[in-house]
Amino acid sequence: MSISQDLFNTARELIPGGVNSPVRAGSVGMHPLFIARAQGAYMYSQEGDPYIDYVMSWGPMILGHNHPRVRKALEDALQNGTSFGAPCKPEIDLAQEIIDALPGVEMVRMVNSGTEATMSALRLARGYTGRSRVIKFTGCFHGHVDAFLASAGSGAVSIPGTPGVPDEVVAQTLLADYNNLEQVQELFTRYGSDIAAIFVEPAAGNMGLVPPQPGFLEGLRRLADEYGALLVFDEVITGFRLSYSGAQGYYNVIPDLTCLGKIIGGGLPVGAYGGKREIMNKIAPAGEVYQAGTLAGNPLAMTAGLTTLQALKEHDYNYLEEKTSELAQKLKEVLAEKGLPVQLNLLGSLFTLFFTPDPVTDLTSAKKSDQELFRKFYTGMREQGIYLAPLNYECAFNSFAHGPKEWEKTLESAKNLKF
Ligand code: PMP
Repeated sequence: MSISQDLFNTARELIPGGVNSPVRAGSVGMHPLFIARAQGAYMYSQEGDPYIDYVMSWGPMILGHNHPRVRKALEDALQNGTSFGAPCKPEIDLAQEIIDALPGVEMVRMVNSGTEATMSALRLARGYTGRSRVIKFTGCFHGHVDAFLASAGSGAVSIPGTPGVPDEVVAQTLLADYNNLEQVQELFTRYGSDIAAIFVEPAAGNMGLVPPQPGFLEGLRRLADEYGALLVFDEVITGFRLSYSGAQGYYNVIPDLTCLGKIIGGGLPVGAYGGKREIMNKIAPAGEVYQAGTLAGNPLAMTAGLTTLQALKEHDYNYLEEKTSELAQKLKEVLAEKGLPVQLNLLGSLFTLFFTPDPVTDLTSAKKSDQELFRKFYTGMREQGIYLAPLNYECAFNSFAHGPKEWEKTLESAKNLKF
């Protein structure tokens, strides 16, 4: 038995399902790898085996693992203590960096996770508009917030219903299919005066990657304006990933509120939500919508995030986009040559391969992906040292630490696969 298998068996006795976040256990019947350390584009399992990583901690590590600049900044910050529960300068430096980068953000509040960001942004949207309903899209994932678990993506895809969430809460969540403006229009026609906000991943990353079709985000902006609802972009994945100005800069559609996480923490636990000054000033203590956090604005997390953003500014997003496109297109060709039905969804440094002959534009089409083919793809790649998300409803994340050597090995491994 491998060390990871052994550790997983122990973990299952101590931690529900053996993991502290469900997708880590995967859907492919293979035990998760226990990771001892990570460097650049690589993770090293407890056994000492190297893996080329395309999960990158589910997005944050866009500069690569253990980036020297981030590590040095953290080592320096560590000399000054780990938590103050009082204001510190790195908070305003990171806030300024985010505000300068994102056109929709004039003020920002730091929290500790993406879930906290979306949960708080929803409360703010409700407090600001005085309305209670919220529109979300099937297959989008906004963290494990009660209001957003209905038809959620990621690890929740296979879970029927929303056990633990009161019916009254579920009833406030209105669902539409991703890329389907007509359904959104119908919801506004029916419930318009009671809808506080549309929450959307401006490029969906939690039913696998599903980019917005042309006009979709613009249409949401128009409908939100028409009915006096807020448009909230959940940029937990796309922020500082699609471009330095996020999806909002990439598509030039400006939301009222933006949720952030992952990259802005540089690998430490951080989330944030920001938006128009007039709306953000409703948050306590400036206003009366209450939200708080013991560890929010933690000096180490702020330092890791700020240093990551500063370093990212010196990186060429177009280069990463081009290289990701080359890799993903070639991967698709390799699989297609084996006679597999394969769809490639690709955007910036993100991609997902679906095993279906039909285009994937929403959750229904994503679910057509052949899970047995995915299982073979995943296990075959992992056996050759390529670390992919163990669930088809996730993205592959490329990074600035990956290079030709890693991409070529990835393609070679795909060529060796037997289906
Ligand atoms: N929103 C999106 C779009 C996400 O992808 C995630 C997590 N993958 C979250 C919110 C929740 O973030 P966290 O896991 O930090 O709570």
